[in-house]
Amino acid sequence: MSEFWHDAGGAFHPVSGPDYLPVKQLRDLQLHRLQVMVRRAYEKVALFRSRMDERGVTPEHIKTLADIALLPYTVKTDLRDTYPFGLFASPMSEVVRLHASSGTTGKPIVVAYTQEDLRVWASVMVRTFAACGLERGDIIQNAYGYGLFTGGLGAHYGAEALGATVIPISGGNTDRQIMLMKDFGTTALCCTPSYFLRILERAPEMGIDLRALPLKAGIFGAEPWTEEMRKRIEPEADIKAYDIYGLSEIIGPGVGTACCEQNGLHIFEDHFYPEIINPQTLEPVEDGQEGELVLSTLSKQAMPMIRYRTRDITALYTESCPCGRTIRRIRRISRRSDDMFIIRGVNVYPSQIEEALLAVEGTAPHYQIVLTNDGTMDDVEVLVEVTPEIFGDTVGAMETLRRKLAASIERIINIRVKLRLVEPNTIQRSEGKAKRVVDMRNK
Ligand SMILES: [Zn+2]
Repeated sequence: MSEFWHDAGGAFHPVSGPDYLPVKQLRDLQLHRLQVMVRRAYEKVALFRSRMDERGVTPEHIKTLADIALLPYTVKTDLRDTYPFGLFASPMSEVVRLHASSGTTGKPIVVAYTQEDLRVWASVMVRTFAACGLERGDIIQNAYGYGLFTGGLGAHYGAEALGATVIPISGGNTDRQIMLMKDFGTTALCCTPSYFLRILERAPEMGIDLRALPLKAGIFGAEPWTEEMRKRIEPEADIKAYDIYGLSEIIGPGVGTACCEQNGLHIFEDHFYPEIINPQTLEPVEDGQEGELVLSTLSKQAMPMIRYRTRDITALYTESCPCGRTIRRIRRISRRSDDMFIIRGVNVYPSQIEEALLAVEGTAPHYQIVLTNDGTMDDVEVLVEVTPEIFGDTVGAMETLRRKLAASIERIINIRVKLRLVEPNTIQRSEGKAKRVVDMRNK
């Protein structure tokens, strides 16, 4: 079986079948589901109905997949404005689970699931784990936060449905995470990539070599990270670091995943329909071009979502994947338009700085970007930790590295930045999503 599916470790779960649907069949299924979903959203959700009425669009106008372009976009503030239950398409008697995400300001956004939605959610997480080479017999340590955040329970039920053994440890308590990884023989760890950096750092202090443990896979998501970061992480723990993608507004984790090829992420297109648009003009871009990812749910009952603007910047791949999956891939998401900052008129993403830093030997993958303004001009200072070996080196060697890093950043973002090398262990570590940018400018 493994040879036929060209999959990592031979893991193939029957639930993964839709990953390999013939394209024509997949498109037919998507169109059918889109029509049903749009009708449901129009009939049950006041906001969708009024937006469609404004445009003179009815569910009958959806005759092809391309007709999705007739439909209005949905944005995050729509979820806030209808807080708490305004976008639900099911009566509460059919809603069996609520999750909420805390925004940085104001009311959280609330999402809902019917029993059928939970079944779909577990199935896309099974397909995620299977694509990452996991199967029955694997021991999955789930360090995503349990609770209102979708990460913990999303991964949990998927791992159980896969038939793996789940360790529901939730986030934090790094020493205990490492102890259990060793004592329980964890083969896969679910967490944010930045939390794994903390684990990588702490394990040797406890006298534990992660490379000697059975750990073989990291299922890393919930924050943007770069290919350079993956290349740093993998050899340090002798694992494959898989990128997974999801967002609460659509379902939680399980929207898409890397496969054994580790080149982009497959979107579970039978449930989530992807489009890429130009965020300025809101027009669709050509396949392969960069833009903002827009997702529509195709099967969600309790809370269907029409053309949700994710703010994530990516591109759809035009070529098929050697793994054999027919569901399309998007490029790794290392940029979110929300993370972008503007410095002296230039748009900069933290991931561009990460890329530039990690391209240079001698840096540790811990950095922080500090934005200041002296009253006349914006300034960027990048703090980056160096390895203990480099830190103990001569002043001259440090200065050479500093210049090299500053030049590497300038090459990518075309702005001169201040760069400061700091001692190992000075930048705050994160147990969840890392805070890469500190903006001290007066707004
Ligand atoms: Zn693939």
